[in-house]
Amino acid sequence: MSARLPLVVANWKLNGNRDLLAEMLPALTELDASQVETVLCTPFVYLGDEFGDVQKGAQSVASQSSGAFTGEVSAQMLREVGCHYVIIGHSERRAMFGETDNVVAQKVKATLDAGLIPIVCVGETEQERESDATLDVITKQVKSVMDILPSFSDSLVFAYEPVWAIGTGKTATCEQAEEVHYNIRQILMSYNHELAMSTRILYGGSVKPENSKELFSSENIDGGLIGGASLDVESFTAICENAVA
Ligand code: PEP
Repeated sequence: MSARLPLVVANWKLNGNRDLLAEMLPALTELDASQVETVLCTPFVYLGDEFGDVQKGAQSVASQSSGAFTGEVSAQMLREVGCHYVIIGHSERRAMFGETDNVVAQKVKATLDAGLIPIVCVGETEQERESDATLDVITKQVKSVMDILPSFSDSLVFAYEPVWAIGTGKTATCEQAEEVHYNIRQILMSYNHELAMSTRILYGGSVKPENSKELFSSENIDGGLIGGASLDVESFTAICENAVA
């Protein structure tokens, strides 16, 4: 890991409840925030709760700021309840809710405009990896976001999440992950060298306490986006501790 402050993000998806929140918050408060930044992305309904010192994140956001969009939540509303981060373009949103690269880019823009930090997820399917298309897919996904922004924002976070590794128990090897992370940073450098060097790129896909230390030791892996293991206080805090250099 580099001089970039490690970031570990919990993605609860459609899981969790107030009891888990009450258990998780004090455990995360005990972590040394100067060594590892942690974010808890719960379902929307819990984001109005008091999180104390723990940073709140949403799992999605509307691309519009207001209007007749039943069921949607705007970035401004998220900001109002104290959110700092928003996961955008998770592969489940892309696959199940029809989020295209263009929609993802619009959501990133709306999030930045509201003063929040987008965590932009990119990743290839198993079939794309097997047909050697991984880097092409990643390049297209990253560029579709970068090309729509008026300038490189120092608030951007990217997450490389190979679709075949999410919730499957299969993890990318450190070499596979580092290769993609390195390439993402190279793409970002073509927009702004200095900001690309300070942009955090997280890895996600079946990260557990047992494999996190090795993954996080790679030069271009700056932390993790954690699904299943973020529902267990002991596992998630162990992963956060493993992100400390
Ligand atoms: C995720 O949902 O972003 C994720 C990485 O899930 P899991 O850790 O369960 O693979």
